[in-house]
Amino acid sequence: MKTNLLIIGAGISGVSIAYNLAKKGFKGIHVVDKGYFTNGATGRCGAGVRQQWATETNCLLAKASIEFFEKAKEILNYDGDLEFKQEGYLILATTKEEHDQFTKNVKLQNKLGIPAKQLTKEEALKIVPHLNPDSFLSATFCQTDGHLNPFKMTEAYYLAAKKLGVTFSFFEEVVEIIVNNNKIEKVVTTKKTYETNRVINAAGGYAHEVGKLAGVEIPVYSENHEILVTEPVEKIQGPMVISFSKNIYCQQVPHGGFIMGRSNPDVEHNHDVESTWDFLDKMAKTVVDILPVIGNLRVVRQWGGSYNMSPDRQPILGGTDQLEGFYMACGFSGHGFMLAPIVGILLSEIVMGEETSFEMAELSIDRFKDKTEFVIEKSVV
Ligand SMILES: Cc1cc2nc3c(=O)[nH]c(=O)nc-3n(C[C@H](O)[C@H](O)[C@H](O)COP(=O)(O)OP(=O)(O)OC[C@H]3O[C@@H](n4cnc5c(N)ncnc54)[C@H](O)[C@@H]3O)c2cc1C
Repeated sequence: MKTNLLIIGAGISGVSIAYNLAKKGFKGIHVVDKGYFTNGATGRCGAGVRQQWATETNCLLAKASIEFFEKAKEILNYDGDLEFKQEGYLILATTKEEHDQFTKNVKLQNKLGIPAKQLTKEEALKIVPHLNPDSFLSATFCQTDGHLNPFKMTEAYYLAAKKLGVTFSFFEEVVEIIVNNNKIEKVVTTKKTYETNRVINAAGGYAHEVGKLAGVEIPVYSENHEILVTEPVEKIQGPMVISFSKNIYCQQVPHGGFIMGRSNPDVEHNHDVESTWDFLDKMAKTVVDILPVIGNLRVVRQWGGSYNMSPDRQPILGGTDQLEGFYMACGFSGHGFMLAPIVGILLSEIVMGEETSFEMAELSIDRFKDKTEFVIEKSVV
């Protein structure tokens, strides 16, 4: 089968890229996924969307994406409810160093037009009264941060892309990429062979392996991040509560359950997505320290998913001089859901050879050339 462009991966990144390219009039886009859409991290994520970051690049990318989420239902003409709520992110500072860093972050965010503010403990307690007052010093809050349903958001892009002529194959795994003279010739899957000169690697946790199939070395790896959901209860919490130093994010989603996660600093680099007792134990202790009332709720389900990590915790976007026609959207390091709208726009601009909406140097794979030390985004759990 001949195709103008093959996108590997139908997670939020793959469908956003497909939609944005098709909207620009690019013809002959085919998306292939070894599962169904949302098979990877997208269907396993916390689906929080926030603009409160410590680097200018992440702030700007997230701000542009939130502006899209605000109008996504209309833009994509989606019949369903995306369950988008903008009830804010409350970020707790638990040490003096964190408080001082957050003062700098809020200054940067405000300069970039993000309406975040620094709050005293008392002000934070007015927003989330059931916080343990002894567990933090101060906080920052941005009302326009929020949450939306990852399955529905992906479906909205998927349906809109299909309407624009994008075709999809599911339960079909890419197993070989045939390259000749630095040019892609064919992509072989478990079902077919595609003749194509352009590939976009949106394979999430498997981005490194897909790069290898094409002979492209991408400095990313995967690690398991676990998460759980409690039984639904009457609404008591609007914002996402998050603490980097205490290693927790926790929010009540529209159906009433609390979704929460924490990172395991000793996690191995692999494709494991299993659930562990250790996570359940530590998660319960962490959340009870900050939000004691949640200790009364029963856990309904827990699961794991891959963070695809890059060396500086910022995504890798665009092409590479390692191989003509090979593009990447990976290395999201745990925040790829909230960046997907702008990622789709940027990749479509790059493939079409247009001027990009943002300076790409900080996002290109080339930034890692001959470098071993990086400025790492610290505002992550
Ligand atoms: C527990 C957890 C919580 C998270 N919370 C948040 C959050 O609150 N906010 C946020 O913004 N982000 C969050 N993330 C990160 C976010 O989920 C990811 O960054 C984002 O979903 C990545 O989307 P993607 O489309 O790039 O990759 P994926 O969603 O992983 O999609 C990749 C797709 O590629 C397919 N694929 C892989 N290899 C092949 C192959 N060889 N052939 C064919 N198909 C292939 C897979 O089946 C998969 O469907 C979280 C992640 C986890 C695990």
